[in-house]
Amino acid sequence: ANIGGVLVGLLFALIYAMITFRGGGPVREIADGIRRGEFEPYYQPVIDIVSGKLIGCEALVRWRRRDGVIPPGRFIPLAEASGEIYPMTLAVMTKARDDLGALYGRLPHLELGFNLVAGHFDNLDIVDDVQRIFDGSPIRMSQLMFEVTERQPLQNIARARVVISRLQQLGARVALDDVGTGHGGLSYLLKLGVDVMKMDKMFVDAIGTERYSVAIVDSLVKLAADMRLELIAEGVETFEQLQYLRQKGVRVAQGYVFAPPLPAASFLQLADAMHPA
Ligand code: C2E
Ligand code: CA
Ligand code: CA
Ligand code: CA
Repeated sequence: ANIGGVLVGLLFALIYAMITFRGGGPVREIADGIRRGEFEPYYQPVIDIVSGKLIGCEALVRWRRRDGVIPPGRFIPLAEASGEIYPMTLAVMTKARDDLGALYGRLPHLELGFNLVAGHFDNLDIVDDVQRIFDGSPIRMSQLMFEVTERQPLQNIARARVVISRLQQLGARVALDDVGTGHGGLSYLLKLGVDVMKMDKMFVDAIGTERYSVAIVDSLVKLAADMRLELIAEGVETFEQLQYLRQKGVRVAQGYVFAPPLPAASFLQLADAMHPA
């Protein structure tokens, strides 16, 4: 073998490792970021598309660093692999409680959604922590919604079902997120006992383009109605999509056509300006 090539390879590997693990590595950076309060929720308005009123919001985490605001796609997988996702979820809920307490206390019909990962459904810790965090807050349990994504396989469906029931017993609602995109297929919808179905942007995107995908939108709308689940359409970007969904009887949506996820101050301003449902 060419010893020069090997040495150059080793050099590049060393430089790569130095860049990647600078300051203790990305996992350590996430842990430090949590401790420094750098993870904060943005809030995307959820709208009643028939009345135009504000129904609530979905909390979507951002990492605010010196070098900019980092979207969740860039750190959630790593946070999950390392276990930092759990303290991060609790930090997001705690911050949302503090940001939105006054507004939600005033408007007891507003709903607040949080994203959970499959690992949070392995045991009852999340139920205790939700209770602890919202105990004494003006935000009522009945105002909370927890989203479980179909994109990730659940370790143990029976156990997840128990966690979901306990959250529901507290008064919260539970949604199946990204329906139609994941491994669970329809089985999660049948087995988990959720209250709400979130239709992925992928299907909403098809409205006004491919005919066959619109058939999927129509089927999901019908499925939600037959199962007596509330349906929330995600990622609505155009008036055409909005019009189509409305005409199909969809009542609730979120998307850039209304607003992107907003920092707390902007969301509070918008909520004050809008007529909540
Ligand atoms: P998701 O739960 O399906 O959230 C919807 C994503 O679509 C958000 O991306 C939102 O900003 C984006 N979105 C909403 N409306 C539109 C639209 O009209 N057009 C387009 N192009 N995009 C739209 P975001 O905030 O980057 O989050 C990505 C994913 O990261 C989320 O997908 C969720 O799975 C995960 N995530 C976000 N926050 C959290 C969190 O606090 N905890 C956990 N476990 N996961 C989170
Ligand atoms: Ca979600
Ligand atoms: Ca409720
Ligand atoms: Ca989704």
